[in-house]
Amino acid sequence: MFSPIKIILLLLVIGGVYLIARKAGFLGHKPGEKTETIKKEGDTASQTTDLIKCPDCGIYVSSKDDHCC
Ligand SMILES: [Zn+2]
Repeated sequence: MFSPIKIILLLLVIGGVYLIARKAGFLGHKPGEKTETIKKEGDTASQTTDLIKCPDCGIYVSSKDDHCC
């Protein structure tokens, strides 16, 4: 049978390992969190590059090279 002191020491060891692992970055992120951040950055980048307003005719085009007025 476990004595209460052994159980407390075991919990302290588990908690210490968990805190060290989280501090080292192994458990800092939830499984879907990192990919979601990358996806958001990709959307922002595509939004800035997708639509360019043509200064001549005012039409929004994907790129000025493909567009001719
Ligand atoms: Zn144009």
